[in-house]
Amino acid sequence: MKRALENLLGIGSVQENVVLAPYTTMQLGGPADLFVEVTSAGALAHAIKTVRELDLPHFLLGCGANVVIGDAGFRGVVIYNAAQNIEFDGNQVTAESGTIVYPDLIEASVARSLSGLEHYVGIPSTVGGALWQNLHFLSPAPARERTMFIEEVLEHADLITAENDLQRVDVDYFEFGYDYSILHRRNDIVLRATFRLTPAQEVDLRKVMTENLAWRALRHPPLDTEPSVGSIFKKIQGIGAGRLIDECGLKGASFGGIVITHRHANIMINQGGGTAADLQALVAYVQKEVATQTGYHLETEIDFVGEFDPPTGGSPVFLPRPAGLITAEELAARRKA
Ligand SMILES: Cc1cc2nc3c(=O)[nH]c(=O)nc-3n(C[C@H](O)[C@H](O)[C@H](O)COP(=O)(O)OP(=O)(O)OC[C@H]3O[C@@H](n4cnc5c(N)ncnc54)[C@H](O)[C@@H]3O)c2cc1C
Repeated sequence: MKRALENLLGIGSVQENVVLAPYTTMQLGGPADLFVEVTSAGALAHAIKTVRELDLPHFLLGCGANVVIGDAGFRGVVIYNAAQNIEFDGNQVTAESGTIVYPDLIEASVARSLSGLEHYVGIPSTVGGALWQNLHFLSPAPARERTMFIEEVLEHADLITAENDLQRVDVDYFEFGYDYSILHRRNDIVLRATFRLTPAQEVDLRKVMTENLAWRALRHPPLDTEPSVGSIFKKIQGIGAGRLIDECGLKGASFGGIVITHRHANIMINQGGGTAADLQALVAYVQKEVATQTGYHLETEIDFVGEFDPPTGGSPVFLPRPAGLITAEELAARRKA
């Protein structure tokens, strides 16, 4: 399999048995049989076309901020997207789909006094991942009256479609919704995206960035010391999943190295040595407890990729709340008061 792929992608371009945990924000995941890093949109299109023609199972990985990869790894080819060229043309910016949204794309735009992307500061994402999930965050302080979505500034995107055609599509093509785009149901791959930005004062954009980073720092575990995959469960008809989990008294529950952080009931962190099997056990435990206590079924909003060992057995251990910690739920209650 490796030789066939290298014949088409270039000698030395394919690595074997690459452990995927370091490529994900939760630091979970076993080895990919084969691993190809692409550094341009052209190379990404070529790699996708090649694995499709060879009929090899494959998966495209961005920042790994919305995926949990199984401990047994991935049987096939992981294509790691490091295509990161950024070009400005007036008020528009075109970024290859492996571009890191923050800091790279946001800093480049804000330094040119262009507004539209600054809201998404601090969120781990590539441009491709951002379109896959319709990246979102609250509108600026103090009102924070609505959720803003990256679709609002998308002009068009270049795809290699599920049928292997190169095609430019506009925003309507994506059927964007909350945590949803057509990429969930069609095997199209984003090669690059063009965003339509608006001239603004850099100082005003920096203010939004500072406020949003401060908001996030109070509510979200820092990725470098408390690795996570962001929110685990979807909202239910306007009811926060975190609120339900908190009301059921599940904060601090842990299996192995994975724990529900006391900071935010909808976020699980890897305390070190955590496994995907621990995470799956904790997810199943939360779903069962919340269903029993409230009647609601929580659905996960993350992608599970690759091969999984059976979930860790036994009962959860409850870890105490660290002294002095203010939780996201308490901050939300203070805002409403
Ligand atoms: C601490 C933390 C905080 C977060 N906060 C937020 C938040 O405030 N708002 C929010 O919206 N999200 C948030 N998230 C979720 C996450 O950041 C987003 O979903 C992000 O867009 C994922 O991008 P990625 O590059 O990591 O995608 P990955 O996790 O690598 O991939 C996700 C999916 O997208 C597919 N994909 C990736 N690139 C492409 C492409 N070029 N073409 C087609 N499909 C592709 C992958 O194959 C995979 O199925 C948070 C996550 C973390 C860890």
